[in-house]
Amino acid sequence: MGIGVAGGYLLGRLKNEHEVVGFERSTQENHDSICAWGTTRGPMQEFAKKCNLDFNDYVIHDGKNMYIDMNSDRFNIKLMGLCTYDKIGLIKDMSKGCKINYGITPKLTDLESEFDLIIDATGFYRMYLPRLSQDFHLPTYQYKIEYEDKVPFDDFYLKPFSSISGYFWYFPLGEKHAHIGAGDKNRKHVEVTDAFFKKYGGKILKTVGRPIRLATPDMCEPFYHGKVVGVGESIGTVYPLLGEGIIPSMTCADIFIENIGNNERYRQQVLEKFAIYSKVLAFVRNKMDSKFSTIKHFADLIAIYRYMKKNERRFGMEIKMTDMMKVAKA
Ligand SMILES: Cc1cc2nc3c(=O)[nH]c(=O)nc-3n(C[C@H](O)[C@H](O)[C@H](O)COP(=O)(O)OP(=O)(O)OC[C@H]3O[C@@H](n4cnc5c(N)ncnc54)[C@H](O)[C@@H]3O)c2cc1C
Repeated sequence: MGIGVAGGYLLGRLKNEHEVVGFERSTQENHDSICAWGTTRGPMQEFAKKCNLDFNDYVIHDGKNMYIDMNSDRFNIKLMGLCTYDKIGLIKDMSKGCKINYGITPKLTDLESEFDLIIDATGFYRMYLPRLSQDFHLPTYQYKIEYEDKVPFDDFYLKPFSSISGYFWYFPLGEKHAHIGAGDKNRKHVEVTDAFFKKYGGKILKTVGRPIRLATPDMCEPFYHGKVVGVGESIGTVYPLLGEGIIPSMTCADIFIENIGNNERYRQQVLEKFAIYSKVLAFVRNKMDSKFSTIKHFADLIAIYRYMKKNERRFGMEIKMTDMMKVAKA
């Protein structure tokens, strides 16, 4: 259920050994992926390979540098694999050859009578699993822009909001296009995106928006209920500091595949794999609520730094403690 990044990847991985059928709420013509399409080459190459595809065929822009604009403090982060890619193109190619029913949202009872296993990969909507008692999400808003000649930035640009209540992003999509958008707990996301658009112009090709779940997997139980098992953002696999959900959702799909038929082991492995996300979310929420203290929360900050430093290639950017401190002090 849901042919996003997790659903599409699962179809691609399972189609040769299982009888899999996809259901997608959007019509085939409107099927797209509401996302800025930013990800990291290395891990994506591995996922694509498992579906007999080459990720290089989908890369649109190879990042070298990310401009961070914190008003008084501007700095650059060296990129090591961060790129934008044709996300919907890869989803479609991964699921090629599978039967997909577009434009419908079947009732759970109808699905239960027809299928052995129902995968809730509906992302934020989590349509087929029980509602969450302590969800946490941010509203987002985004334009796909076409520029006539000069683009505002030649590479990735981020502008965090004060006390990290969210951020504005500019993600390049080749010579003339970009995704510009924002997510913000204080709901300035539309205003800030419009202000950027007003300043730099261009032609709006697409306007999208949906909440992004920042509640981490430990807050998104149950992961399974009856015949339904959740994979991806439906069970909180989004890195809360960045709002980055592509690689975590595909990682979650890999864990699911390794544990088909053993829901409890799947649950435990997901909780283990994403355990650090709770610490990261606590940092983000403390910042948002102006409760963060460098002294009181220093151990957590160091733990997040160590995790990201160890996984620099996975995040596709150089991780420096000095940059982390700038974010912590913002
Ligand atoms: C504006 C924005 C920008 C983002 N930018 C990035 C980024 O640059 N990099 C990154 O890593 N992450 C980004 N994210 C997060 C990332 O897009 C998601 O976390 C990730 O795509 C989650 O994958 P998923 O497959 O679980 O869900 P989704 O990709 O959301 O897919 C869910 C699918 O289910 C379908 N669906 C929903 N309800 C139903 C239903 N009832 N029946 C059938 N189908 C249904 C939807 O139409 C959709 O196709 C962004 C999110 C937003 C909102």
